Amino acid sequence: MKQYFKIDEWNIIEEGLHPEENRIYESVMSLGNGHMGIRGNFEEDYSGDTLQGTYIAGVYYPDKTKVGWWKNGYPEYFAKVLNATNFIGIKVLINGVNIDLAKIKVKDFSRILDMKNGYLLRSFTIVDSENRETKIEVKRFLSMSELEIAAISYSITPLNHDANISLIPYLDGDVSNEDSNYNEKFWLEVNRAVDNEQGLLTMKTKKLDFHVTCAMKYDIKENGNDITKEIELIDKEKYVGNKVSFTASKEKTYTLYKYISVTTNRDYDTENIESEAIKKVNNAYSKGFDVLLNEHISAWERIWKESDVVIEGDVKAQQGIRFNIFQLNQTYTGHDPRLNIGPKGFTGEKYGGSTYWDTEAFCFPFYLSTSDQNIARNLLIYRYNHLEKAKENARKLGLNGALYPMVTMNGEECHNEWEITFEEIHRNAAISYAIFNYVRYTDDKQYLLDYGFEVLVETSRFWADRVNYNPRKDKYMILGVTGPNEYENNVNNNWYTNTMAAWNLEYTLEVMEYIKNEHPARFEELKNKLELQDEEIEKWKDIVNKMYYPYVESLGIFEQQDGYMDKELLNVSDIPKEELPINKHWSWDRILRSCFIKQADVIQGLYFLSDRFDLETKKRNFDFYEPKTVHESSLSPCIYSIIASEIGYEEKAYELYLRTARLDLDNYNKDTDDGLHITSMSGSWLAIVHGFAGMKIKDGMLSFSPFIPKAWNKYSFKIIFRGHLLKITVDKEIITIEQEEGNELTLKIYDKEYTIEANGKITLETNR
Ligand code: BGC
Repeated sequence: MKQYFKIDEWNIIEEGLHPEENRIYESVMSLGNGHMGIRGNFEEDYSGDTLQGTYIAGVYYPDKTKVGWWKNGYPEYFAKVLNATNFIGIKVLINGVNIDLAKIKVKDFSRILDMKNGYLLRSFTIVDSENRETKIEVKRFLSMSELEIAAISYSITPLNHDANISLIPYLDGDVSNEDSNYNEKFWLEVNRAVDNEQGLLTMKTKKLDFHVTCAMKYDIKENGNDITKEIELIDKEKYVGNKVSFTASKEKTYTLYKYISVTTNRDYDTENIESEAIKKVNNAYSKGFDVLLNEHISAWERIWKESDVVIEGDVKAQQGIRFNIFQLNQTYTGHDPRLNIGPKGFTGEKYGGSTYWDTEAFCFPFYLSTSDQNIARNLLIYRYNHLEKAKENARKLGLNGALYPMVTMNGEECHNEWEITFEEIHRNAAISYAIFNYVRYTDDKQYLLDYGFEVLVETSRFWADRVNYNPRKDKYMILGVTGPNEYENNVNNNWYTNTMAAWNLEYTLEVMEYIKNEHPARFEELKNKLELQDEEIEKWKDIVNKMYYPYVESLGIFEQQDGYMDKELLNVSDIPKEELPINKHWSWDRILRSCFIKQADVIQGLYFLSDRFDLETKKRNFDFYEPKTVHESSLSPCIYSIIASEIGYEEKAYELYLRTARLDLDNYNKDTDDGLHITSMSGSWLAIVHGFAGMKIKDGMLSFSPFIPKAWNKYSFKIIFRGHLLKITVDKEIITIEQEEGNELTLKIYDKEYTIEANGKITLETNR
């Protein structure tokens, strides 16, 4: 396998320029802070292949839907995360020559993503036609302590000559999306201003009226001192810049500091976004680059203190997991319940930056265990706030209750393939499952009273209407669905969907009993608000009791859906290697007819409802389904890895883990150029914490059942659990659990209870 990056515990290092693969490197070198993100683009001009990407959280465009064959119920638009004003731009002219790394001789190029401190560092030396060398070093970050601020330091040192240099820090709003459906530009200029010290550009989207202001201020210093310079203003449509020219002496370093603030009318009234942007950028400017950077580094220190995973004996694995944790934290900081996690985060245009079931099914546990519980709670609130839209969505399909969209920005469905939009309805249960997961982990039952119950009732109403009763079998069935395995559509009785639907109803009933008994007054309020009827509750109970689950008696396994066993039952090992991945080599109908599974389906259910199934059941299903799974979704291997860990298939668990952990760093799926697989990044964390360490909640207690993969000497990770910050370390012989913050805590290890004092620790032998 090709190695794109130098292996290092804390840094992602590109050595030498890679014009052919620049997009891959740009994706990996992306920076974000929850409020905004940028791909690893260059500040100076670059005429080679590049995907320019600056994204602002929550700012999107409803791009008119493009489909071949319109079907009733399709959404009017597909939301697109917008490529916004390029605010990192700095044009560089040395002795009159515009620096463009695609056209000029460059040596000693490196681009380094420093994950510990959260910045991007680039350095290189330019050699001109007269062999004059100029060294450039650039550092940039998007502040984690002041989310609307970005800062860049751009240093130039003429090594063997005196030079005439012009630097043009600019803001360029004339940008577009590569994936625009009709090659339309999405932005209009509202206002621009520039003077000798600063510039400002306000753009608005053609639809939805999102306004974004970028304000910049700059400074140029030589060894901390001001220099003599000439300034020319550049002021043209959608663009402002300051051309700063000066004479640079040999071997002296001149640094341009560019400070940028980015404000939107999502956060302020439209008429105030410019004054806010100016206030913020002035404040950043007066703090200065080093102070801002130190504050940013301290914010990252806290993040790592709560979420780091340390692996000893395998630097590649270490780099992989840290990269995943880093990117997850860059994508979602939980400060705003209107935001969520797009499958590509802020690293590319694919998937439109929208929200998928990925959030609840894959990302949620990561945030739940590695940050303040309000951050995970905000992900739940996001869906609560979309409840009315989800009800409308169900209504459009002629059904009761709420059907959450498959793909969304604001609660409206954006997806437009009937087999997914109308049929991949299992997503509803994942949203209810996240509520269950949150309450089980945090014990915050108040959430159920304030928000959770309403979502549970409306999703239950949807299921109750979507099932159909088969009197001949005296069973409820769910027909015409797509399970998590998208390589089959319009199937009947997908085991996963039926199981999760019935679980959803059962959990709603359980929560209802709890509220009724413990908070009767609130129950009456909710009952009235939701117009809960006794008959519907009876129906939910009936469905729970009489749900139909396809089962293969002879093998003792759940049948993925009705008719699955009628297929030609081959294994992935029967497919010639050159035909993999099948989604690139086979016709769609051949994929649909085949037994091959895109991603965990039955196994996803075994993972979610783990307590309900014994190890033998898990083993039988794993043995049957894993060899038939092509793992052509990046969300697949991690779930199989967790079940493999649980049933004692330690080597298999590790092998599957490896497929997730360095997916983007190794460009495993050959699509890192489009952006990173942010939502599956959580999968590698899940495979370690839920898989290798066997973390669960049992009887309201945190519980572990760890083993260590043979290739590792030791691993440790941090968990925040109900106000306790714990460090769990597993080596070849010993497990240690240390309490770094919090009072006495009782937990389970290998199903036995232990108590840890405040600041205490316990040590045990590994005995799996
Ligand atoms: C997967 C879905 C997922 C989507 C976005 C698809 O390939 O099959 O489960 O929601 O990608 O990540």
